[in-house]
Amino acid sequence: MHRKILILAALILMSATVLVVWNHLRPPRPGAPADRPPMPPAPSAPLLSVLAQPPDWSRLGRFHHALTRPEFETLLTSVFVTGGRWREFIEIHDDAVDVRHDDADPAAGMTRIPFASDGRRAVPVRGWRRARELPPFPPGRPLDGLRIAIDPGHLGGPWAMLEERWLQVGDGAPVCEGDMTMAVARHLKPMLEALGASVFLVRDGSDPATRHRPESLLPLAEASAGVAAPDEVIRKTAERLFYRTAEIRARADLVNQHIRPDLVLALHFNAEPWGDASAPQLVDRTHFHVLVNGAYTDDEFAMADQRLTMLEKLLSGTHEEESLLATRIAEGFAAFTGLPPYQYDPALRNVLPVRDHPYVWARNLLANRLYDCPVLFMEPYVMNSTVDYPRMAAGDYEGLREFNGRPMPSILREYATALAKAMEAAYAGIREPGG
Ligand SMILES: [Zn+2]
Repeated sequence: MHRKILILAALILMSATVLVVWNHLRPPRPGAPADRPPMPPAPSAPLLSVLAQPPDWSRLGRFHHALTRPEFETLLTSVFVTGGRWREFIEIHDDAVDVRHDDADPAAGMTRIPFASDGRRAVPVRGWRRARELPPFPPGRPLDGLRIAIDPGHLGGPWAMLEERWLQVGDGAPVCEGDMTMAVARHLKPMLEALGASVFLVRDGSDPATRHRPESLLPLAEASAGVAAPDEVIRKTAERLFYRTAEIRARADLVNQHIRPDLVLALHFNAEPWGDASAPQLVDRTHFHVLVNGAYTDDEFAMADQRLTMLEKLLSGTHEEESLLATRIAEGFAAFTGLPPYQYDPALRNVLPVRDHPYVWARNLLANRLYDCPVLFMEPYVMNSTVDYPRMAAGDYEGLREFNGRPMPSILREYATALAKAMEAAYAGIREPGG
């Protein structure tokens, strides 16, 4: 029953969204036939992402006087947006910024956020603590008191094929990203705990956090793909809504309402386009990068829920903490593994370099947007790489095994050890040591 209500609500939301999109795309009709009565105004609904709740703009109230105008403008234009459409929604004055709730309907309202000034600056209320705000750490425990959520990316197990993070080379063992990230998380948790952190796993196994399943999302998939879409397209859409959208939204509820960490480590393995999963195209390179939140496209910024969350990230100082930790952790991880940096195509509109650092990039992903604290997306190794695939196919093992004439640890343990050592060095460098 609960699920039916959710689907109904989602459908109403979808139709409202379609209506808004239609109103946006519809050309003006200067010479409408006189014999038709004027259309009543459409009920106003802001443009929203799939399965998003209508935004609560009062959440911006906690950021009054948090940033100066130059601080706000610099972060907005150098980290958070890649286009110019923000000007339709945001008006920057000397003493405050006005944010429109809905550009199509000026009556939908506006929120004003006063800037900090020389005499007046307020520390925003946050549910997480910066590394620098933690007390001095006891010897050997630079993560003491830190709350960390480890989010093992994807689901794996019975869902690996459906979520398309799976490949197999010849008769080799199948490699599933969701199972590998889970194994890394289980190695990493006790290592971080030994350094003093409280560590929580966002999932433990391949059970989804969401109560949705692809079947329960078919009506929403049909509404989004269009009833005329082929069954195969609707089925794929429902699957994506399940493992990507609904699952990440459920994990965000866990992180924000129950775990409430200071930092989320989202564990992933990278891959390059591989084509058919049972006969994947291989590449002979490997690489690594870390992602933080930013680089909202014009279309993303136009969605009310994304616009609100972006402003919360910007005003809460999340980027400052994410970029500080990401650069230090990337350096430690790269030094330990020897992985070279991944370079995005500079022409892409959905990614931005961070602090001109070769290993750190900003992207707007559902998880790093919805988790209400600093989030680091780890993207080491390449699943369809001739360098990494044999190590992944070998699975988890103790000690060393030879690959290309070199004795190597299990790639899962190397990942966990490199990240634990990078975290240790990063926090020991940022926090004050205690006696
Ligand atoms: Zn991934």
